[in-house]
Amino acid sequence: MCSDTVKNMSKQLDALKDAALMPLWHDSDARPEVLPALAGNEACDLLIVGGGFTGLWAAIQLKERQPDADIVLIEKTFVGDGASGRNGGFLSTSIAHGESNVEARFANETEQLEAAGEQNIRELLETLERYNIDARYEQVGETEVALDEEAAGRLYEEYRALKNDGEDVVWFDKQAIRDNIKTDSFFAACWHRGGQDGVVDPARICWGLREVLLNRFAVRIYEGTEMTSVKPLGKDEMLTVCTGGEIRSNKVLVATNAYTSPVGKVNRCVIPIWDYQLATEPLTDQQIENIGWGLPESRHALADYNNMFHYFRLTKDKRITWGGGGAVRYYFNRGIDPKYMDAPARHEQLAREFFDMFPQLEGEIRFSHKWGGIIATSTRFCMVPGVAYNGRLAWSVGYTGHGVSASRFGARVALELLGYHPSDIVRLKFVTRKAIPWAPEPVRWLGVRITQFELERADRNGGKRGLWLKLLDSLGLGFAC
Ligand SMILES: Cc1cc2nc3c(=O)[nH]c(=O)nc-3n(C[C@H](O)[C@H](O)[C@H](O)COP(=O)(O)OP(=O)(O)OC[C@H]3O[C@@H](n4cnc5c(N)ncnc54)[C@H](O)[C@@H]3O)c2cc1C
Repeated sequence: MCSDTVKNMSKQLDALKDAALMPLWHDSDARPEVLPALAGNEACDLLIVGGGFTGLWAAIQLKERQPDADIVLIEKTFVGDGASGRNGGFLSTSIAHGESNVEARFANETEQLEAAGEQNIRELLETLERYNIDARYEQVGETEVALDEEAAGRLYEEYRALKNDGEDVVWFDKQAIRDNIKTDSFFAACWHRGGQDGVVDPARICWGLREVLLNRFAVRIYEGTEMTSVKPLGKDEMLTVCTGGEIRSNKVLVATNAYTSPVGKVNRCVIPIWDYQLATEPLTDQQIENIGWGLPESRHALADYNNMFHYFRLTKDKRITWGGGGAVRYYFNRGIDPKYMDAPARHEQLAREFFDMFPQLEGEIRFSHKWGGIIATSTRFCMVPGVAYNGRLAWSVGYTGHGVSASRFGARVALELLGYHPSDIVRLKFVTRKAIPWAPEPVRWLGVRITQFELERADRNGGKRGLWLKLLDSLGLGFAC
């Protein structure tokens, strides 16, 4: 390795040296004190397990429709400690991981799922406004960028198809996107400008909803409280054993997403994938000018057009958050230990890739935060709702990396499956069709690693999918973040 390369690498890694190991979103004045854990026994109509978006939105939606519903919510650590407080904050309309996934898996329900997605994001934003939750929302749409000529060609085909379908999309050729954002890495971009897609500070949504549940709806929330088992008790009750006590309820809604659950059926439909992110210090006005991105007309929320894609965006205080790419990992036997958050090799990889894209920031900017979070991946690439015990326990899990808005819809589906105000939604194949379960270990670990390797190879190979990926495609299986 030549000495310049070594010098550059050490500069890139130097930028990581003082980064705090915590999600940027957690490092905030808005972060509330942790609530007391359950100490003794409880009883309620509905027990919600999990204090992420799914659990919180379930409680809000039910309380708004049925104010007298008696709800208890338990959370293993603290509200927003799961994926909901650790994600990239990309808010998208799709509730099923994008149009191509819907077309591939639920072609007969495209219209209903699109309409449900639009209604869902509209209502989500209306609720934030109703309760004065400042989620730092910016309606910037989402912009896909091609990183080579070949990808630019494929992206253009996609752009044409969307345009023909009447979508509000804008094409940037190489010069146009480089005029907007100054990096030689970009070859073209497609800006999905229409609709309400944008970016948020996700933890602020969690804590805002928590506050509304506590103070407006008198929902009892116990943090530091883990469900360890659940079973039916007679015909009409469920008994949930938790750290700190037992809870009797009519119904249980499991909102634990990627985490290992005491409910076996939930575990079989998702695997936990660790995804890593970095955040920079706030950029100076000069640095913003040097990269173009961040000026009022170019605040795009970006994702590159790859299988193993990076996602990157600006925050209101002018930082860049940067995550994804090949840094994602599945750890053998559903590893969810918080120790996996500290992954120096993954964070270093992200830092190197960041400066490859924005070399003008090398030696100029440092990373202030580094973190990881767990994405729940299902074999159908989108949420998996389900119900057991004669309709007394339901779940919605497995949103992959598209759960910021979809989890609100997932919460609605799980409530409807429990019999709370059911609508036509619960008759959709999207809800009734069972997801193919993940294979047991060690096949699962091996399968994910091979797939990840093959996806990276396809990215290097102009998107060409090898035999392994073609086989998975034909079986309707795969791996997506
Ligand atoms: C790094 C990262 C980046 C992402 N980026 C995006 C993005 O930009 N856009 C997007 O749309 N989606 C994104 N996602 C996905 C999105 O964040 C999730 O789909 C969504 O937050 C899921 O919400 P949830 O409430 O179902 O799960 P979680 O937020 O994970 O909540 C589950 C909660 O259950 C608790 N729990 C688990 N087990 C128990 C138990 N036994 N008892 C009690 N409590 C328990 C956990 O502590 C946790 O708080 C990202 C995810 C990650 C990890």
